[in-house]
Amino acid sequence: MGSVCLDLVWPKSAQRLAYHLLRAPDEQTKLLAEVILSLKQKVVLCSTCFNVTESDPCPTCRGDERDRSKICIVEQPQDILALEHTGIYKGLYHVLHGAISPTEGIGADDIRIKELLNRLQDGSVNEVILATNPNLEGEQTAMYLSRLISPLRIRVTRLARGLPFGTELEYADDVTLTRAIEGRQEF
Ligand SMILES: [Zn+2]
Repeated sequence: MGSVCLDLVWPKSAQRLAYHLLRAPDEQTKLLAEVILSLKQKVVLCSTCFNVTESDPCPTCRGDERDRSKICIVEQPQDILALEHTGIYKGLYHVLHGAISPTEGIGADDIRIKELLNRLQDGSVNEVILATNPNLEGEQTAMYLSRLISPLRIRVTRLARGLPFGTELEYADDVTLTRAIEGRQEF
């Protein structure tokens, strides 16, 4: 139920939701409000990867079946949904909660970069996959991270081109995303 509700309230669906509410009976609207409220009360950020979760650490960070030598870095939790949907990636994640954007006044200290560097200290990670969006901010962020992480003797890769420039990861289809993960290159 959780993911369905999250999908409903993503900002880009907000307009559609507003139209739906105009036509919906009051009972349905009330029910939806209750679901949203209970969801908000249950959801926290994982203190390791900063994905949204109902339990901390999240199931991915806890999962024994995940490959702990790889961390895929994304801008937003919904990017993880898109990548997990392909079923091809079995490593861990790290959510930055944004991208570096000088024009919007968002610097490296405003997103979860420090926390990422802490995770790389113990030497258990040998590859970092930069899966920030293929747009200006995403590229700037990838470049910045690459400069920080490369000296740590960790392999830094970037999702393959093929994701159209200017788009966001969460809207890419499975086939394109799978190709982008499989074809990732040294960065
Ligand atoms: Zn986690």
